[in-house]
Amino acid sequence: MDTKDLTIAKVKEGILGGDFSAKEIAAEYVSTAKSKNPELNAYISILEESVFDAAADIDRKVASGETVGALAGVPMAIKDNILIKGEKCTAGSKILSDYEAAYNATVITKLKEAGAIIIGKANMDEFAMGSSTENSAFGPVKNPIDIERVPGGSSGGSAAAVAADMALAALGSDTGGSIRQPAAFCGVVGMKPTYGKISRFGVMAMASSLDQIGSFGKTVRDAEAVYGVIKGKDKRDSTSSDEPESFLNLGDMSSVTIGLPDEYFVPGTLDADTETAIGETIKDFERSGAKIKKVSLPHSKYALACYYIIMFAEVSTNLARFDGIRYSRHSDLKTDDLLDIYLSTKGEGFGDEVKRRIILGTFVLSSGYYDAYYAKAQKVRKLIKNDFAEAFKDVDVLLTPVSPTVPFKLGEKTEDPMAMYMSDIFTVPINLAGVPAISIPVAGREGKLPVGFQLIGKHWHDSDLFGLGSYYEGL
Ligand code: GLN
Repeated sequence: MDTKDLTIAKVKEGILGGDFSAKEIAAEYVSTAKSKNPELNAYISILEESVFDAAADIDRKVASGETVGALAGVPMAIKDNILIKGEKCTAGSKILSDYEAAYNATVITKLKEAGAIIIGKANMDEFAMGSSTENSAFGPVKNPIDIERVPGGSSGGSAAAVAADMALAALGSDTGGSIRQPAAFCGVVGMKPTYGKISRFGVMAMASSLDQIGSFGKTVRDAEAVYGVIKGKDKRDSTSSDEPESFLNLGDMSSVTIGLPDEYFVPGTLDADTETAIGETIKDFERSGAKIKKVSLPHSKYALACYYIIMFAEVSTNLARFDGIRYSRHSDLKTDDLLDIYLSTKGEGFGDEVKRRIILGTFVLSSGYYDAYYAKAQKVRKLIKNDFAEAFKDVDVLLTPVSPTVPFKLGEKTEDPMAMYMSDIFTVPINLAGVPAISIPVAGREGKLPVGFQLIGKHWHDSDLFGLGSYYEGL
């Protein structure tokens, strides 16, 4: 079976129409996952046993005429920081290498109810900290388009799995770009919904005020189908909400205004390939009749600094629970001293990037520095949020690059954290503001390295992004 051109709609059609069974689809994806994983390392674990039980269940329902869910038979990869009951959940960390989840994340319950088949747990930067998936304790993921290059991060395994047909769709988490940047690097679609649109119950918290679960697909409609299943208010996450969505009138593109923020198009920021590709995308929208308007997000220059204070602070508190007593594996050190247990457990279990962030986060929250760093960053965050609100008075959506560069080589930025952090320059402001954004591959780049463009929407206007994105795909 050729899975290259499969979409979620085609899977459902094929299963219901008797062209193939859920078991056949699952077998195909499991076999691709197993054959490609030794090279790409997209999965930390492949859940072969449960895959076939779940697929058999769908086939039984189809045979007996029962209704099946929106994602019946859809093979999916799940980032390994999202809990699946009874399965290992490592968050890409040595400290959780033996941890087994005791319950399902809300998104997993919803996916299972909708009939999705979970192929495996996707590799990721440790605790979602990174932009290249080189910070995984289980080895780096390779970009399926060019295996000498990174797939982006931190949801690099999810993006690579979809790009390499090791899954048809995937879930990731995005705190500062971790869905959108790997989607751009692997040539697939990745959506970070409005903060609050998807329950975070059962995703391991990195920075709770920024984290959001979202979907990957080969097409915008596939990413939307997964989003449609997992969205909505959850009593277990008080930040989740069922705000009504609104829709652009895409039947009349001249009624759509797309904003280009000056600060995202500063000459010399983009590599040549990215600049050309984004330029062409803007022209495509212009030709379709949409109005293009320049806008300003004046506080953008502070976004990276602001993010790397607030995120560090939240990381340092969220990761305190991995102390070898409440969670995580215990150091073998024989001692009665509690502090020694903590120190050796964390010292052995966490990687360098995680340690750097915990230390810096503790610093920015410490007495005397709290006001100078953390409190100030919160004020800047408000200004950044206001920038978006102002811009959205004049335009319906914003269009920007996702990353300043095409996928970089493995090892190119590992020794220079600042260079690595710079790859998030266009994605972190969106998390600070809490608005939705989608990363879509620029069309017509077959044989070249992928480039993604980003559409950013107003709060709760996630549907506008899917609508406009799929309109672009149809051009
Ligand atoms: N690359 C960013 C970081 O390292 C974003 C991570 C994320 O979104 N989880 O913080």
